[in-house]
Amino acid sequence: MADLQTPLVRRKRKKVLVDYLVQFRWILVIFVVLPFSALIYLNIYLGDMWSAMKSEKRRQKEHEENVDKVVKRLKQRNPKKDGLVCTARKPWIAVGMRNVDYKRARHFEVDLSSFRNILEIDKERMIAKVEPLVNMGQITRATCPMNLTLAVVAELDGLTVGGLINGYGIEGSSHIYGLFSDTVVAMEVVLADGRVVRATKDNEYSDLFYGMPWSQGTLGFLVSAEIKLIPTKYMRAWG
Ligand SMILES: Cc1cc2nc3c(=O)[nH]c(=O)nc-3n(C[C@H](O)[C@H](O)[C@H](O)COP(=O)(O)OP(=O)(O)OC[C@H]3O[C@@H](n4cnc5c(N)ncnc54)[C@H](O)[C@@H]3O)c2cc1C
Repeated sequence: MADLQTPLVRRKRKKVLVDYLVQFRWILVIFVVLPFSALIYLNIYLGDMWSAMKSEKRRQKEHEENVDKVVKRLKQRNPKKDGLVCTARKPWIAVGMRNVDYKRARHFEVDLSSFRNILEIDKERMIAKVEPLVNMGQITRATCPMNLTLAVVAELDGLTVGGLINGYGIEGSSHIYGLFSDTVVAMEVVLADGRVVRATKDNEYSDLFYGMPWSQGTLGFLVSAEIKLIPTKYMRAWG
């Protein structure tokens, strides 16, 4: 016969510290996480504005200087002593959920943080030439006033061109234009030995052109990309 003295529902256990931390996590979110995120986004936005104020000539000059810095940095690497090469971008700023444990192991960082300029918008060729840290918001703000847009615009403003090519990028318009990387027509890449090459689908680096998408940065550092633009009638950029 059933023990009628035993309650049918489990008794409430005594609250411990973790329960209070979970219950009051909103304090941390509202007073620490949100203001901190807002500051990061403000910083990125101001950086984008600063980049937009520079002349095209200056952006191109900075690009050449920054590519030289990457080449010099790679030449400093001693393969016997230093670990594998990777970008110095901190995992917490990237929009991804990949395991980045390799950044805790011995590794050789190359700083690409200054590659955040739109280098050229060529209305005749319908191509935008941009550096890898240019983000979706930045590119939309620049192209919309010209009634142009990327064919595939990943919906989060913070996603970068480098991440969308080397990671992956997709959006609603992909059912017409393919993945983000399918709208790229040329990539400028610094190889591990310091050579700077421009890969297109039909030049001598076509293998690199087809290999870069989804390579997660394993084949070289992307330092600029030429991406297809399409005309638009109704889009408006905010901010
Ligand atoms: C919450 C969330 C929402 C998302 N929403 C969308 C979405 O709306 N549309 C969409 O398409 N995708 C979306 N994604 C996926 C996202 O696009 C990918 O995770 C993308 O790779 C993140 O890009 P990132 O700019 O943060 O780059 P990172 O995470 O910094 O980079 C991605 C990879 O590319 C490599 N890399 C970056 N720059 C370079 C470079 N210059 N040279 C060589 N290698 C480089 C990095 O080493 C890394 O392996 C989403 C992901 C999350 C977590």
